[in-house]
Amino acid sequence: MPAVTINGQHHEFAEGITILAACRQLGVEVPTLCHDDRLKPSGGCRLCVVNVTGSARPVTACNTLLTDGMEVQTHSVEVEDLRRTLLELLAQSYPVGAVERWPEKEFHRWLRHYHVPLAGDTGKLISPDPHPFKDSTHPYLHADLSQCITCYRCVRICDQVQGQFVWRAWNRGDRTRIAPEAPTLLTSQCVSCGACADTCPTGALEDQSILQHGGAAKWTRTTCPYCGVGCEMNVGTREGRIVQVKPVLDAPVSKGHLCVKGRYAFDFTHAEDRVTEPMLREDGEWRKVSWREAIDFVADNLRRILEETGSDSIGVLGSARGTNEENYLAQKFARVVLGTNNVDCCARVCHAPTAAGMKRTLGTGAATNSFDDVERASTFLICGCNPTENHPIVGARIKQAVLRGAKLIVIDPREIELARYAELHLQLRPGTNVPLLNALAHVIIKESLCDEGTLRERVSEFDAFREFIRAWTPERAADVSGVSADLIWEAARLYAMHKPSMCFHGLGMTEHVQGTAGVMSLVNLALLTGNFGKPGTGVNPLRGQNNVQGSAHMGCEPANLTGFVPLDQGRDAFESVWQAPVPRARGLNLMEMMDAAATGKLKALWAIGYDVALTNPNAAATTEALAKLDLVVVQDLFLNELARGFGDVFLPACSSFEKDGTFMNSERRVQRVRKAIESLGHAKADWEIICAVAKAMGFKAQFNFQSAEEIWNEVRAVWKAGAGISYARLEHHGLQWPCPSEDHSGTAILHTESFPHGTRAPLRRVEFEATPETPSQEFPFLLTTGRTLYQFNAGTMTMRTPNVQLRKTDTLDIAPADAQRLGLSDGDKVRVRSRHGKTVMPVKMDSRIKPGELFASFHAAEVFLNNLTSPHRDKVVMTPEYKVVAVNLEKG
Ligand code: SF4
Repeated sequence: MPAVTINGQHHEFAEGITILAACRQLGVEVPTLCHDDRLKPSGGCRLCVVNVTGSARPVTACNTLLTDGMEVQTHSVEVEDLRRTLLELLAQSYPVGAVERWPEKEFHRWLRHYHVPLAGDTGKLISPDPHPFKDSTHPYLHADLSQCITCYRCVRICDQVQGQFVWRAWNRGDRTRIAPEAPTLLTSQCVSCGACADTCPTGALEDQSILQHGGAAKWTRTTCPYCGVGCEMNVGTREGRIVQVKPVLDAPVSKGHLCVKGRYAFDFTHAEDRVTEPMLREDGEWRKVSWREAIDFVADNLRRILEETGSDSIGVLGSARGTNEENYLAQKFARVVLGTNNVDCCARVCHAPTAAGMKRTLGTGAATNSFDDVERASTFLICGCNPTENHPIVGARIKQAVLRGAKLIVIDPREIELARYAELHLQLRPGTNVPLLNALAHVIIKESLCDEGTLRERVSEFDAFREFIRAWTPERAADVSGVSADLIWEAARLYAMHKPSMCFHGLGMTEHVQGTAGVMSLVNLALLTGNFGKPGTGVNPLRGQNNVQGSAHMGCEPANLTGFVPLDQGRDAFESVWQAPVPRARGLNLMEMMDAAATGKLKALWAIGYDVALTNPNAAATTEALAKLDLVVVQDLFLNELARGFGDVFLPACSSFEKDGTFMNSERRVQRVRKAIESLGHAKADWEIICAVAKAMGFKAQFNFQSAEEIWNEVRAVWKAGAGISYARLEHHGLQWPCPSEDHSGTAILHTESFPHGTRAPLRRVEFEATPETPSQEFPFLLTTGRTLYQFNAGTMTMRTPNVQLRKTDTLDIAPADAQRLGLSDGDKVRVRSRHGKTVMPVKMDSRIKPGELFASFHAAEVFLNNLTSPHRDKVVMTPEYKVVAVNLEKG
């Protein structure tokens, strides 16, 4: 622990701290320009120079470590003169207008502080770069590099944090200029994360929204409304409108970074077609009504249907975009008010197989580790997920870890971006995860790469598994999966030998007829090699929507109560808190609700923030089912496809920027959602709407909540593993469950000593069952579906932001060889037909795709990709097989 003297005072600091960090801890302000805590210190601008006794010259504080006995002077006459000279040199070529326009920018503050005149003021402006890079074509970023002071922060943050390498320094010495690697940002490989604008100390790079609306007057810390990574953000508002979003520098997940969606895609809140008045549909026309009339309509009709056809003829869908509190209330409403367990959420169509597969093996159906383990892993096995597009902050962290030397194995039919950084890319045929993962297990056992201690103490059923897996040779798996046996051998060796190894998986693993089976096969690898219960290991699902983990965990699940408590266990605690019986029979899941609607057994559906019409597979069957319902209650921000096609009543809800609550991210972290703006028009928070309907149906005592925190405290009363997570504790940082008491610090890594079901986890013998979606002469292509960076799920939010300028609609991505053979060029419209339906969409040539395969996203209502997807479902939890459908195509 170095004992040092700073400005004459004695102090002690932890080892490995820089002079700058130590000064900041003491509240001593040392000026900097090129420094940003998110970056490796460079010492390039030299503004942070300080005197150190014994050193002939001043040293840079940002990259000099404190050593024992050091004596530091931060503001001697010598270093202050030096700083002033450095600033004068920079000011020689700096435009006056920039300083006036952005008085708070770091560089401008130091110019003022040191009373440095601008050369423009004295008529002596010299420009080292007669043609600075300027670009106003990007919807979110504005560049005017005449304000550049070559601090390299944009270059370094793009390289060191995002890993995109867009900004470059051209020329040398005085002639150095910063510009992207392409003529404009839009034509560069920029992913619009805005990190460059966030770090720029002059305003040379700036958010377009600031230029349009001016800076924020108020900031609110909250959690991103998009994906399950759970980045924290500061939302800047002015006059009731969001004008800017900035990353939270000390956020545990995002660490001062955001992707394009979190950073910029907020304009949907004020979209022109946002519905902020309750509406009823009469004779096909929507009529605005009061909240009283809308609530009475819902309550009266639910009561009528309860009387006519009983509890189990009604279904409720919670929302992955709603808060934990709201999803808790949605399932409580179904169980207490309606008396049914017919409650589900969109986890059904994404990670229900993860929850089931991991619960059957490890005893807990959630991520075993934390995102912080990315920096501790030596090898990554990325299976059926595309993190740099769909979970970009985790994707960027993985990319940085690989650039620092970690090994990467990618299992994916497409050459996703991470495949370019991978040691091994196993480009399997869609639908063949199970044989491929089985073959990896075969090699691990055959080559004695198992962790013997783990097998002895933490794993069961090894002998039976060894017998079973003998038949799954790499050669056999190669025939089925199309991945060469050699690659399978290499991947198994790398995963098992270069430890710790960490798995991430996504919907490419779960949205198959063997989704649950695939997850169990993946868990087998972790169990065999001891890659669990330790830092840098585990099996980690990347959850799609911001709160899909939370919505299922809060009990929007037909077979489980809050905390994933099975219906037949622990119901007493719920009945005692709810003062009402919990229905005993397992309810219908979303897919079963559709089946029951089709046969007339389900009469009513209340869909909260969930456009099942657009996102359910096999749209023809979904449409037929929804059309048979007596009552469809739609609660959303917009008239989505469900409302347009089938809605009887529309209840206008708030976005997460307009309410309080919590979200739960992919790594089991509960984080605060805070109200940044007042709700628009007469829109209400989902929890307020649910309470209003419950009260109208006579359940005032059970739904008499005044705030999100009150609801959360009830959640804590029924969910033992979350009992210690109070709002007060969430004030500064999220907490990961299990966190059973207020003195518990949360759990970053599960299964360190044991599993919830005992000391050993079983290896599961998973036989391969092929998908029925096989190519044929009539349907020769295999289409796989997924998300893209710039759009999000049903496009409800992102399609109402300038993200449409970055990606307008869905495209059918096709291998160039196939496109040429069919005479197709980029943008050509094609008629795509499957055994289940058809659509028309533009094609895009994409060399990342193998001939005979296709990829398309499902964001755009005008494309309606789910016209094509099949009725096939996972055998265990009924998750639809979105990832494989046989199609043909013709030029349209
Ligand atoms: Fe939001 Fe996910 Fe992007 Fe983070 S990575 S900013 S949570 S969309």
